[in-house]
Amino acid sequence: MTTIADRLALAQQRIAQAAQKSSRNPSEIKLVAVSKTKPDADIAAAYLAGQRSFGENYVQEGVLKAEALKTSCPDIEWHFIGPLQSNKSRMVAEHFDWMHTLGSDKLARRLASQRPAGMAPLMVLIQVNISEEDSKSGVEPAAIASLADSICALPTLALRGLMAIPAATDDEVRARSELAAMKSLFEALKQSHGERAQIDTLSMGMSGDLELAIDEGSTLVRIGSAIFGERDYSHG
Ligand SMILES: *Cc1c(COP(=O)(O)O)cnc(C)c1O
Repeated sequence: MTTIADRLALAQQRIAQAAQKSSRNPSEIKLVAVSKTKPDADIAAAYLAGQRSFGENYVQEGVLKAEALKTSCPDIEWHFIGPLQSNKSRMVAEHFDWMHTLGSDKLARRLASQRPAGMAPLMVLIQVNISEEDSKSGVEPAAIASLADSICALPTLALRGLMAIPAATDDEVRARSELAAMKSLFEALKQSHGERAQIDTLSMGMSGDLELAIDEGSTLVRIGSAIFGERDYSHG
C-alpha cells in the first residue's frame, strides 16, 4: 500500500525532476498540498512527513480544519484556492495565510478591512482568466494592472503574484500557450509593480500538468490527487 508520505515524496520527486529538466532550481518551486474533501488525519499525515503548506477550496471546510489542527500541526500555512463569495470573505481574512483567487477590487477591499490587525498581511494572488472561457473566474489580462494598483494601496494585503487554472485539455500546444501567456503577464507585473510589492509567485500546475507548468515558469504548484488520492464527492 502506498501511504500519503510515499505519494508526497513522489510529488516532490516529480517537481525536482521537472525543475532539473527545465534547468530551474527546485527550491524556487513551492508545493501546496490540496486537501479539499480529505479528512484531518490525511493532512496530519502529510504534516508529519514534513509538508507545511495546504490548500483548501471551500471556506467553511478549511476553517474547520484549521481550527481542528491548530494544536497538533501548529505551523501550517493555509492557502485559499477556491472561488470566494464576498459574504464569506471574513473567514478567509481571519483564518488563511494566502488567497489565490482574488478577482475584484471590491473583494480586495473587504478582505483588507477584515484582516485582523494582529495578523501578518494576507498574501494575495490575482486570478487571471487565461483560457478566455466565459465560465471561468478571474480577471481579464488587461485588468491585472489596475487591480494590482488597488491591492498595493491596502496595507493589510500583500500582493505576491498571479494564479491561473488553465483550460482542461489534452492538447499540449494549447496548454503550453496558456501557461506561457501567464508567465509573460507575471513578468509584466514584476515590471509594473515590483517596486511596490514582492512579486515572486506564479501559481499554476496541478497533479496532471505540473511538469508543463514548471517548464513554463510556475513557482507554486497545487497538488491534490497525486498526494491524497482521488476525491470522492459522493457522500456529501
Ligand atoms: C482541486 C484543485 C487543485 C488540485 O487538483 P489535483 O488535480 O487534484 O492535483 C489545484 N488547484 C485548484 C484551484 C483546485 O481546485
